[in-house]
Amino acid sequence: MFVLAIAHYGRYRGKRREAQLLDRLARTDALTGLSNRRALMDAIAREQQRVERGAAPFAVVLADVDHFKQVNDRYGHDAGDVVLKQVAAAMRAAARDVDDVARWGGEEFLTLLPATPPADAQAAAERMRARIRALAIEAGGQALQVSASFGVSALQAGESVETCIKRADEALYRAKRDGRDRVVLFVPEDDAVLAEA
Ligand code: GH3
Ligand code: MG
Ligand code: MG
Repeated sequence: MFVLAIAHYGRYRGKRREAQLLDRLARTDALTGLSNRRALMDAIAREQQRVERGAAPFAVVLADVDHFKQVNDRYGHDAGDVVLKQVAAAMRAAARDVDDVARWGGEEFLTLLPATPPADAQAAAERMRARIRALAIEAGGQALQVSASFGVSALQAGESVETCIKRADEALYRAKRDGRDRVVLFVPEDDAVLAEA
């Protein structure tokens, strides 16, 4: 009886570990090991609920690697993948433990910064930018350098997650337009004004 119970328990624990592993895989981007888009959307929705219950608002940082198509064209797709991995690691290293850094798609990354004022999120994005710029990535016997552009926005009272991300996207667009390798914070008090770092 006792032995059977242990065997059952062992099987149960094995199944549970398996389920946990599958769940983690489903939430992880295979190339970079970061959270994937779905996992981050879940995390943002949870954080939004916390804010509705009184927690301090979160910020998001949307990053996009500059001229990434050229990296693929010049060095090949595999080198492009290496760049994405290193950029991901640099972003993760620049972020705090509580921040959720995700691969949003292609060469775009979205980071959730819980309970973070806009200026702090802007500073975090600037740390990420500098780390990415400092990378020397080995590709075809050469040390290749890349940069990324960043759009930052913070959740406003009563607004949806989608609106907040859309503003980060608009700020990112502005960062690209103004020359790339820079951080732009969307300042919501006046939609026409964008602060640059
Ligand atoms: P910009 O500075 O305006 O962002 O220019 P860009 O070249 O980075 O932008 P564009 O959107 O034109 O190109 C993105 C490229 O990213 C095109 C696509 O082939 C490449 N890409 C997307 N996902 C992957 C991936 O997983 N691996 C590799 N190697 N390339 C990818
Ligand atoms: Mg892009
Ligand atoms: Mg790009």
